Amino acid sequence: MRPFRIATFLFVALVLHSCATKHAKNFVLPEPVNTKDHPILIQMKKNFGTHGGVYADNKFDGARLNDFIQLSQDTFAAIIEPENKPINSSPWYSFRIWSDRERDIVLKLDYTGYGHRYVPKLSVDGENWTIYPEDEIKRDGEDALINLSIKKKPLWVSAQELIVTKDIINWCEKMAEHPSVQMSIVGSSKLGKPLPHLLITNGDIKRKDAVVVIGRQHPPEVTGFLAMQAFIEKILDKSALSNKFLDNHVVYVYPLMNPDGVDLGHWRHSAGGIDMNRDWAYYHQEETKAVTDHIVFNTSKRKNKVVVGLDFHSTWEDVYYTLDKKTQTPDLATFSDDWLKAIGEGIPDYEINEAPYPLNQPISKAWFYLQFNAASITYEIGDKTPRDFIKVKGDVSAKTMMEVLLSYKEKS
Ligand SMILES: [Zn+2]
Repeated sequence: MRPFRIATFLFVALVLHSCATKHAKNFVLPEPVNTKDHPILIQMKKNFGTHGGVYADNKFDGARLNDFIQLSQDTFAAIIEPENKPINSSPWYSFRIWSDRERDIVLKLDYTGYGHRYVPKLSVDGENWTIYPEDEIKRDGEDALINLSIKKKPLWVSAQELIVTKDIINWCEKMAEHPSVQMSIVGSSKLGKPLPHLLITNGDIKRKDAVVVIGRQHPPEVTGFLAMQAFIEKILDKSALSNKFLDNHVVYVYPLMNPDGVDLGHWRHSAGGIDMNRDWAYYHQEETKAVTDHIVFNTSKRKNKVVVGLDFHSTWEDVYYTLDKKTQTPDLATFSDDWLKAIGEGIPDYEINEAPYPLNQPISKAWFYLQFNAASITYEIGDKTPRDFIKVKGDVSAKTMMEVLLSYKEKS
């Protein structure tokens, strides 16, 4: 071949190679889901007033209140609707309530046919929260009734602590003060909100094994976010273990997959009206497309082997969703067993709850395995798990993960 032809051939090969490694692959799974956009209900942001001199509003990020009505002299109803249907029964609500005069009222949380899930959190500043006593919640069919003392100063009533896009960006910026962290924005959501990313390692990134961590695909899952925060902060605790781990590994963190859903106060879906954690084979949603492309492109360019994928969520109880034994990459086959055993041993009087599944749905857990042959686990924290225990568990989970992955390095 003449030099010109060789150069052309090399150029074409290079382009083909970079195309081949730039995007996430499409996959076929036994339970496919249509993740093309589905219309959502737009929540009107406004002040709601009643003749009884009691008011409510939803004029802040993360709010959800679709109507507010007076049912009797001292009983009021907050109407909470989902962004669209069908949808999981995870009725997120968040609003402020106040009154012309100091008074006690009964507030009905009316979930428009869906079931009560979240114990109310109360706050006078939107930052510090108390939990409403669960045994004082009365039920009316699927709805919940609570007693509130209200006054002129607004009281926040929220399904969980309010942690929205601006809070997560602030947290990322704080983490980026650590010398091992670089923060960037890897793309935009459908509504133009940032998709933040933390890249964590010591020194050169190239050829290191990678752990990929994602969070907040489902907006109400605040306890999963708290778990991810504790997990990342432990990796950055500047201990000898952390240093050794980051000398040998890189952590790719995408802490906010669904900023639109979070700020719109969605029960589950993206602004495209889709459960984002069913889109990890098709990438129809802007957010899954941007993040998967970022992971694939950068790990390929830097020759990082993705060894572990972790996706943080919340559900009714603490559980680790793992891949079943048939779906394990040979050199990482023991990771989930080794890690979960070490977590169990690291927390006194704690028993690990593991639920293995085959590859069935187009979720992130399947994707980490199919795209990278990585060990893959969905880290679920209960809605009601005590916040101090979430922190303990996050610490122990990070410490043991670092120890287990380093022990593999030593063996190889
Ligand atoms: Zn979830």
